[in-house]
Amino acid sequence: MRDVIVAANWKMHTTPADAGDLAVTLAARTHVAGVTRVICPPFVCLAAVRDALASADPDVAVGAQNVHHELAGAYTGEIAAPMLVGLATWVIIGHSERRRDAGETDARIGRKLARAVDADLRPILCVGEQLDERESGRAVPVVEEQLRGALADHDPERLAAAGLVIAYEPVWAIGTGRNATGADAAAMAEAIRSALAGLGWSDGGAGVPILYGGSVTSVNIGEFLSEAAIDGALVGGASLKPDEMAGIVARAGMTAAARGLAA
Ligand code: PEP
Repeated sequence: MRDVIVAANWKMHTTPADAGDLAVTLAARTHVAGVTRVICPPFVCLAAVRDALASADPDVAVGAQNVHHELAGAYTGEIAAPMLVGLATWVIIGHSERRRDAGETDARIGRKLARAVDADLRPILCVGEQLDERESGRAVPVVEEQLRGALADHDPERLAAAGLVIAYEPVWAIGTGRNATGADAAAMAEAIRSALAGLGWSDGGAGVPILYGGSVTSVNIGEFLSEAAIDGALVGGASLKPDEMAGIVARAGMTAAARGLAA
């Protein structure tokens, strides 16, 4: 049975002075059996969050929001995978805000995946279509192309062993207060698994957790987690709000219990 995962993407929020306290508060409010919890703060807050969680709740994993596609070199301001070892155990790759603002291509995202896996970081690969792509009926081919571009050069067994997670995040739903329907997210999750099968995943991607992301709240999380194809959420804005995260993870705990993960 696939893990149930709730990952918090704090984006460019918090400072080293306050991130540890927020992480401890979130950990205390989300202590729910069977749910894998991950907090992804800004790079400069990783150490504070790691240290705070080490004593408060070591079950909460720490993730980075990005990693560079090279191991080292003349890349001012960038962070390479080996630098994250000891600070984080997960990493978000290919978030749409980075595709938009840093011009990340699928090929580059594929290289980032390789660097993450080499450094034993569990990757959350983000994919998702723009609004015009959905409205013109091209959402599935767009996401298939993102997957092909990022995953084609990878050995599926190695990525599966690294615990690859895919986050389906329709771009028009991120930070907008507008969310996909549960049915649309589930249909895309099925399409993602078909694409993985087409890329040579022997189990058709059946073991790959697929999260939904895009304006998830404590109110709408149930719509996604009632879909068997959806295994959790990547949460942005609401992940900074303890009441919201408490509600989201509580609902995820119901899915974990139904899957027999909560024992
Ligand atoms: C995200 O940052 O991945 C995200 C989905 O943001 P939000 O929940 O704010 O839409």
